[in-house]
Amino acid sequence: MRVLGIEGTAWCASAAIHDTETDEVFIESNAYEPDSGGIHPREAAEHMSEALPEVIDTALAHAEDDADPGGIDAVAFSRGPGLGPCLRTVGTAARAVAGSLSVPLVGVNHMVAHLEIGRHRSGFEDPICLNASGANAHLLGYHDGRYRVLGETMDTGVGNAIDKFTRHVGWSHPGGPKVERAAADGEYVDLPYVVKGMDFSFSGIMSAAKDRYDEGVPVEDVCFSLQEHVFAMLTEVSERALSLTGNDQLVLGGGVGQNDRLREMLVTMCAQRGVDFYAPEPRFLRDNAGMIAVLGARMLAAGDTVPIAESAIDPNYRPDQVPVTWRGTPAP
Ligand code: ATP
Repeated sequence: MRVLGIEGTAWCASAAIHDTETDEVFIESNAYEPDSGGIHPREAAEHMSEALPEVIDTALAHAEDDADPGGIDAVAFSRGPGLGPCLRTVGTAARAVAGSLSVPLVGVNHMVAHLEIGRHRSGFEDPICLNASGANAHLLGYHDGRYRVLGETMDTGVGNAIDKFTRHVGWSHPGGPKVERAAADGEYVDLPYVVKGMDFSFSGIMSAAKDRYDEGVPVEDVCFSLQEHVFAMLTEVSERALSLTGNDQLVLGGGVGQNDRLREMLVTMCAQRGVDFYAPEPRFLRDNAGMIAVLGARMLAAGDTVPIAESAIDPNYRPDQVPVTWRGTPAP
């Protein structure tokens, strides 16, 4: 079986082919890079409409080049959450391709895809997932047909919070990799640490980080401390999720998961608890259509397709709204 995945919730126009026979995932992506500031929804949607046709053509050409050319069994697309103008463009593209190839359409929740790609690549049966992405941050665990939100940010997503600090400093988007590089030369300064039960907050830390920078604290020190505080919070709540559920597997998802220091903290915590930890390779952590194609194939095998007339996008689509239809069905 081969599934075309299409992603475009915010900044990454991406198309992928997942071949379930070989488990190969071919991904073609084109990133939107704002000239200044953060992601502008209208500009990002314009990027989607310009870049998606090309990445989809490249993915389909890859399928044509295979030994068994032309066989696409379904089109899976990011239905939400994400920026409305971007999602509408992705939805239109996916409906058009599915219609022209006369194949079923599969509507995928982008956050569940961030989780499921780790489960798929690790082979873990029933992991807890830490999703640390740009616009989101939450712990998910499966129970009774749904992924339940065990803990989440009470305000901004973790990557967006870091990006807001770097915009203040005058660095270009995305800020996460720049903070990681600067932190290598930094030393500890005090910042707020905000965990309330299973939830956490980043907005106060961001304001304090901006204040420290404005007060003249070296930017390397602020970056170092930002990472130490924010990632320790995520690690603490991940550990509590493992402890409360008794689960002994953790997977990481989302673009912030590319950060070495976050992974180091999670690896240390999991080793101390005797928990298995898995982080997918970077191309599957940041936004990408590979994870959409992989989950799309699982959903297709479970018969979880959506008629075009009912395939509206949902910018606020939460992971716990998704009936998990595919976990009882063998992988295709
Ligand atoms: P979501 O998946 O919630 O819709 P998103 O679309 O913004 O979020 P992702 O690709 O998951 O996308 O994550 C992008 C975020 O990852 C950006 O905020 C970026 O700064 C951050 N990021 C990328 N690399 C690193 C890194 N090495 N360290 C920390 N953050 C990083």
